[in-house]
Amino acid sequence: MKKSENIANPDCKGSCSKPLGEATKAIHVPYARRDAYDALSMPVYNAVAFEFDNAAAMTEAFSGRSGAPDYSRTGNPTVTNLEDRVRILTGAKDVTAFNSGMAAISNALLALTAHGKNVVTSKHLFGNTYSLLTESLARFGVETRLADLTDAEATSALIDENTACVYFEIITNPQMEVADIQQLANAVHQKGSILMADTTTIPFTQFSSHNMGVDIEVVSSTKYISGGATSLGGLVIDYGTVEGFEQKIRGEQLFNFGAYMTPQVAYLQTIGLETLDARYRVQSSNALELATRLQELSQIKHVNYVGLSDNPYHKLAQHQFGKTAGAMVCIDLDSEKSCFQFIDSLKLIHRATNLFDNRTLAIHPYSTIFVAFSAEEKAKMDVLNTTVRLSVGLEDIDDIYNDIKQALT
Ligand SMILES: *Cc1c(COP(=O)(O)O)cnc(C)c1O
Repeated sequence: MKKSENIANPDCKGSCSKPLGEATKAIHVPYARRDAYDALSMPVYNAVAFEFDNAAAMTEAFSGRSGAPDYSRTGNPTVTNLEDRVRILTGAKDVTAFNSGMAAISNALLALTAHGKNVVTSKHLFGNTYSLLTESLARFGVETRLADLTDAEATSALIDENTACVYFEIITNPQMEVADIQQLANAVHQKGSILMADTTTIPFTQFSSHNMGVDIEVVSSTKYISGGATSLGGLVIDYGTVEGFEQKIRGEQLFNFGAYMTPQVAYLQTIGLETLDARYRVQSSNALELATRLQELSQIKHVNYVGLSDNPYHKLAQHQFGKTAGAMVCIDLDSEKSCFQFIDSLKLIHRATNLFDNRTLAIHPYSTIFVAFSAEEKAKMDVLNTTVRLSVGLEDIDDIYNDIKQALT
């Protein structure tokens, strides 16, 4: 056990292993080494290189045996502290921080794929992940097979000996589809393959994807974790079930691709992580209240939110993610024109992309995030021109609701 795992539980007398709550752990994970000045928050080690007492110590560091940082492309104390906190919160074997969600996703997929391999995934994917697979990785001879991941049997039928992994998002954006993770994991593992999940839409402080069978978790920490949309970041969370994965990411890819998180960003995101649970609780309860109230407005044809009891994925989402359903709410209006008019009439809610900012945001995914896709491709992906996506923030719920109400009329 690393020193940083020994967080004392004040409820324990003498030795005891009673676990602390997630909110407590996020704040109280100590640094691997004591700061020279005992700074209470993690200093930003904005340094490229680290010095050694002798040549032998350099060998120990460069071979990875001592774990001491040598060069910040592959290790930095401030970034390591963020990784340690996420590792302790998730119970993972290893966590690697990247400079964006896409860097984490592309590196995790690159670690598993090679020419001649295939990835089984859904047509309901974050737009850049979809084009990473179907365009970028395709150029290197990696095939993408699109399955209905809510159908474990149909998914299983597409897995063969060349399947590198099955990749999915826990709540798809903007369709809000939820796959049965346990069923999917069983099907994937029965075929001897690996299950990788993008869990960006529900924080790992709320549920354990690994307990349901996920092998590798990827997160855009740009979203909930950064808090206030301060910085881009991504995490690869490795539960230690995939042979050679950690070595590939840490021992090869950080060196050769160079997409490691920077210390400034790790500092911002560590502060974000400390308030993640508190912010998430307010944002998800605002989202549920808002979704409930929006159902009453006649201009809105449909409110798509898995927290609503009439949503087809409601029960499954509650079972998998707990009582909260996140802060992404989609609404459908009668036409694209109405969506534009609505967005243009907002006074408080910001017209911006991004998810889980402190502020409430609105966007028309069809004409923005998915603008590079043809109408046929968007139809195939179930991205509709009548959908507005809302990311619900920390404002007073009445103010969010009133802005939407006035913008509709
Ligand atoms: C934003 C997002 C990404 C990409 O993350 P970046 O940090 O913007 O690179 C990937 N997956 C999902 C579900 C996202 O919402």
